[in-house]
Amino acid sequence: MSVRPYRDIHRRKSRLIHVGSVPVGGDSPISVQTMTNTLTPDVAATIAQVQAAAEAGADIVRVSCPDEDSTKALKEIVRASPVPIVADIHFHYKRAIEAAEAGAACLRINPGNIGSAARVREVVQAAKDHGCSMRIGVNAGSLEKHLLEKYGEPCPDAMVESALDHARILEDNDFREFKISVKASDVFLAVAAYQGLADACDYPLHLGITEAGGLRAGTIKSSIGLGALLWAGIGDTIRVSLSADPVEEVKVGYDILKSLGLRRRGVTVISCPSCARQQFQVIKTVELLEERLAHITTPMTVSVIGCVVNGPGEARETDIGFTGGGNGTHQVYVNGLPDHRLKDSNIVDHLVALIEKKAAEIDAAGQQPAQPTAAE
Ligand code: SF4
Repeated sequence: MSVRPYRDIHRRKSRLIHVGSVPVGGDSPISVQTMTNTLTPDVAATIAQVQAAAEAGADIVRVSCPDEDSTKALKEIVRASPVPIVADIHFHYKRAIEAAEAGAACLRINPGNIGSAARVREVVQAAKDHGCSMRIGVNAGSLEKHLLEKYGEPCPDAMVESALDHARILEDNDFREFKISVKASDVFLAVAAYQGLADACDYPLHLGITEAGGLRAGTIKSSIGLGALLWAGIGDTIRVSLSADPVEEVKVGYDILKSLGLRRRGVTVISCPSCARQQFQVIKTVELLEERLAHITTPMTVSVIGCVVNGPGEARETDIGFTGGGNGTHQVYVNGLPDHRLKDSNIVDHLVALIEKKAAEIDAAGQQPAQPTAAE
C-alpha cells in the first residue's frame, strides 16, 4: 500500500522493446526523446545538437533521413552519439535499409507507406539483421485516403485503425519490436487516439502532441495532452514537439515527467511567485539558480520561498530550503531542518555551493533524497 496513494500512477502494461541500449515499455523508465533540426549531412552540426540534447537528458535522439546523403552521414553520427539514434524515414524503403546498416537503433517508418510486400520484407529483414526496433508513427495530418473516406475526417478511430493496420503488416512479417505513436496537433484528438490505441494493443506507446507550437504555447499544449495520458498510466516514451531548440524539448519533457513523479533528474526548484511580503528578490534569485544549477543531474529538491508564510513548510519537504526572513536575515534548511541563517549578501553563491555539496553527498551515498516532495 502506497504512503500517498493519491500520487500513484498505475502504468499500462506494455510489451518491452529496445531502442539500442534504452528499454522502452514494460517497467522501464519513460524515456525522453527529441529530434535534431540540422541538415543531417552536416555531420558536425548534427552531432553537436545530439550531444547538447543528450547533456540536457535526452535518452534517445531522432535524426531525419530524407536522402542518401543523410543515411551516409548517419554512420558517423551514430558512432559519435552518446545515445541511441532513431532514423526518421518517410516512404523510401531504401533509406530504411541504409539507416539500419548505418547503425540506427530504431527506424521511424510506416510499413503501409513503403509500397510492396517485398519491400516491407526487405526492411524488416534489415531491422532484424541489425538489431533495429521500429516506430509506427501515425499522424492525423497524413492519414490514409481510404480511412479519411471511411471516417469523413481525422478522428480517433481512424488513427487507431491506421496504427493497427501498420502493426499488422509488421506482425505478418513476424516482427514485434516496435512502438507506436498516434500524434495530432489537436489535444483532444491525440489523447482520444492514444486512449483507444492503449486499449487495443500492448505495444509500447511513443507520446507526442505534434506541431504543438512555440516554446510557451507548445509547452502548455504538450503538458495538457501528455500530462493527461501519463497520469492515466499511458505512455512509454515521449517527445515534446516545439518550434524551439531541441534542448528545450528535452527540458520540457523532463519537467512533465518530474511533475508527475515519473522521472527524477536534476534540481527541482520549488519557489513561490513572490509578493509584497518577499524578503529578497525571489524571481531574480530563482532565475540565477536555475541557470547555475543546470549542470546538476542528481535528483534533488530545493525550495526558494519569499517569506515565512510558506517557507518553513516547503523547506521541510526539500533537500535544501531557503526562506526569506526579516531584517535581511534569511533561514537556510538542510534535509528539511533549520540549519543556519544567512544575511542578504551572496544568496545565490551561497545556495549554489550548498546545493552542489548536497548533490555530491547524495551521489556518494548512491541514494535517492530521503524526502519526496509535493512536486515529485
Ligand atoms: S511565500 Fe511569502 S513571499 Fe512568497 S508568495 Fe507567499 S506570502 Fe508572498
